[in-house]
Amino acid sequence: MTETPTETVRVLVIAAHPDDADISSGGTIARWASEGREIHYVLCTSGNRGSNDPRMTTQLLGEIREREQRAAAEILGVASTTFLLQEDCELQETLAFRKEVAGLIRQFKPAILMTHDPWTRYRIHPDHRAVGFTALAAIVVAGNQMYREGMAPHTVGEVYLFQTDNPDYWVDVTATIDAKIEAIRQHKSQVSHSGEAMVARVREWAKQAGLEHNMAFAEGFKAVSPRH
Ligand SMILES: [Zn+2]
Repeated sequence: MTETPTETVRVLVIAAHPDDADISSGGTIARWASEGREIHYVLCTSGNRGSNDPRMTTQLLGEIREREQRAAAEILGVASTTFLLQEDCELQETLAFRKEVAGLIRQFKPAILMTHDPWTRYRIHPDHRAVGFTALAAIVVAGNQMYREGMAPHTVGEVYLFQTDNPDYWVDVTATIDAKIEAIRQHKSQVSHSGEAMVARVREWAKQAGLEHNMAFAEGFKAVSPRH
């Protein structure tokens, strides 16, 4: 594809665990990457407690899942993947975490930020909520001139929340649904037990999301204004 002379649109994706962004948004990420957008992943944990295998250790699982996430990100065309190495199942909305994420926003200077919808009803994983609230708070402070000297403020232009139960922004992922499925297959430690059922479910979600929007396959997000 040809490069446009305009400035590259950078997208920062902030997720709690490996596979969260790929399962919820992989089609959109692959599409945007193919259109020349520069996608950066930030994984707050390495998902090092995501196993029921009694022989598995948190150390080994973290390493396995980082590898799986990097392989998936490569398929989607993600430019960089950063692991913050916090403990799985222990994320909290602290000021220190907010500062760290605000620093990443100022470092990557994204036009678009994607993260968990922390208001999604009845999804009980605390890490998803903690990351969603922290990333949204970090957007606010990253743009504040008086917040933390040393790095220039950055104002995010658009925010899309994934894993939402209240979507109002749909992306046609018909051309990239197969890449998304291929990316999800890289998370072998997670999909090995659910296998093809998981793949079928992901395809069905995308089909349902597209039905009312004249798209064969779609992903839905909640768009929120970064202005406050
Ligand atoms: Zn997760």
